[in-house]
Amino acid sequence: MKKHHKLYIDGQWCTPSSTQFVEIINPATNRVCARTPMANERDVIAAIEAARVAFAAWSQTPASQRADFIHAAADEMENRRDDFIVAISQTMGCPLSLTNDLQVQGSIDAFRTFAKMAFLMEEVEEKEGFMVIREAVGVCTLINPWNYPLSQLAGKMGPVLAAGCTMVVKPAEQTPLQDFIVAEVFDKIGLPAGVFNLTPGIGADLGQVLCGHPEVDMVSFTGSSAAGINISNAAAPGVKRVCLELGGKSPYIITEDTDLAVAVRSGVENVMSNSGQTCTALTRMLVPESCYDEAVKMAKLVAEDIVVGDPENPETRMGPMSSSRQKDTVLNYIEKGIIEGARLVTGGVEMPENLPDSVKEGAYVKPTIFADVGNDMSIAQEEIFGPVLCIISYCDIDHAIEIANDTIYGLSSRISAKDKPAALSIARRLRAGQCFVQGGRYKDKAPFGGYKHSGNGREWGEEGLMEYVEVKAIIYE
Ligand code: NAD
Repeated sequence: MKKHHKLYIDGQWCTPSSTQFVEIINPATNRVCARTPMANERDVIAAIEAARVAFAAWSQTPASQRADFIHAAADEMENRRDDFIVAISQTMGCPLSLTNDLQVQGSIDAFRTFAKMAFLMEEVEEKEGFMVIREAVGVCTLINPWNYPLSQLAGKMGPVLAAGCTMVVKPAEQTPLQDFIVAEVFDKIGLPAGVFNLTPGIGADLGQVLCGHPEVDMVSFTGSSAAGINISNAAAPGVKRVCLELGGKSPYIITEDTDLAVAVRSGVENVMSNSGQTCTALTRMLVPESCYDEAVKMAKLVAEDIVVGDPENPETRMGPMSSSRQKDTVLNYIEKGIIEGARLVTGGVEMPENLPDSVKEGAYVKPTIFADVGNDMSIAQEEIFGPVLCIISYCDIDHAIEIANDTIYGLSSRISAKDKPAALSIARRLRAGQCFVQGGRYKDKAPFGGYKHSGNGREWGEEGLMEYVEVKAIIYE
């Protein structure tokens, strides 16, 4: 069992002020797999102060130096790949054989992309009588959830380092292990003291100081809308910049002139990936009435073909939910869907059949599909964050777009149509920060973020860097 005893503050492993530890549960077995210390307010203040002191010199380093550090970190992350894979798989249940592709490789690649972006900080725009320069925003608090714990961290740390900001990092309570490995990586490459500080702990207890401390300039948060609102409230009196990446209830429009079997398969696989714990999951599949029954039958077969099991078994395609609490949340929604009158096509509230004894106590949910879903049902409106797909019928494309946009969220969307021009004409009418058309796949150079309750600000791509930038006009004429 992995045991950590110290926090990483000001370039050193420090004994925490609190004697409180948290036991980390492996959701596949429901057994303790690690123990980590909890920071308290005193530790967080020490971390913020260290980040403030470090900011003065770090923000003035040449971009080439910051890029070298980011590349060195990426190299060391490659060396620690297996440790990341085990840490993430054990704490949130991602199948071991999929964890590198789903959770680790993209984070390392993203670091290299952000290293190149450091040079954007030195670009100067000459205008008529004035110039525009870019400066780092300052000390940043980074708060992350548990579903993609390393990628979400990389998507924030990369631009923080590239821009010349410093950071205090708080992982989710149930998945802190990859953050400890990241601290070891930075320690090994000799990142200047105070640039990266790690203070794991309970978000609700530490939120006020993490987001409200006067020396914090910016908060970047990924997680639930409820926590995002609390974080914004804590940051508001200090007029801090707040970047929020929140939930989604993303639509997937399938038109009748596309290849239905291919479209349905990829839609079901998208939702079931990572046990449905993906903020961009395409959880509302919109299908024309003319091929609705056929699509539902196809979706059922795809879902029932997914191998649910022990994350350590290489055949497993879907592991448990990340915690028993998340399992309960998802099962409640499945019960609600049945009560609301949706048709349960496959899945449901029972444990999946044929689980090996090793994971019989795990937080498992069956891949679940509801048909005959009305878009006003709570299973179509609220983020379930589990392997639950709603299939909704539409009569024409205007109707599909109306249903797609009829949500408080606006994070992602997707279209499978006859061809790219047909898909693009629909994409322009969807109110969401991303739209995948035809075979479009996730790209870390593309800006990512939400409309409406899905958040504000953007991560990834150059837009992700710019969140951490202050723009200064120097006027000389
Ligand atoms: P959460 O939003 O409460 O927790 C995410 C992170 O925020 C954790 O690190 C937590 O410690 C921290 N946090 C919580 N309250 C805080 C506060 N007041 N101040 C500062 N930090 C705070 O999410 P959860 O309770 O773990 O999950 C609940 C639901 O959130 C899920 O069912 C899902 O719908 C949604 N969720 C969304 C995402 C996403 O990527 N958008 C990720 C995880 C969870």
